[in-house]
Amino acid sequence: MAVCEDCDQEMLQARTCTVDAVILQGHRYTRGRAFPGAPDGRCGDCGVTEDAYHHLGCDMEDCPRCGRQLISCGCTWADEETEDMMGVVGDTVVYPAALRGLRIPPDADEPWA
Ligand SMILES: [Zn+2]
Ligand SMILES: [Zn+2]
Ligand SMILES: [Zn+2]
Repeated sequence: MAVCEDCDQEMLQARTCTVDAVILQGHRYTRGRAFPGAPDGRCGDCGVTEDAYHHLGCDMEDCPRCGRQLISCGCTWADEETEDMMGVVGDTVVYPAALRGLRIPPDADEPWA
């Protein structure tokens, strides 16, 4: 059993992740919704239900910035002039545990502003 460290929910029981937006390359993007093709209506990788948000790090999530696979598209990686990916729950910024290892600048209060 795995717990999503970003929303603190058991992945196979939670209906959706609470992270509803992400910040990529300094811009805020509303996350896409899951459309699982599995017979039970849950995402085969992270277990969320249809029309919900994937848990961050799910390999079924499309990048809201470029449309490719989020965990491999490269948008989550920063260079010297941009910020790393962050998750947003309402107006609270979370640093995605699922993507831990990225450099998070200490002064990034509202990097999309
Ligand atoms: Zn989650
Ligand atoms: Zn998923
Ligand atoms: Zn991307």
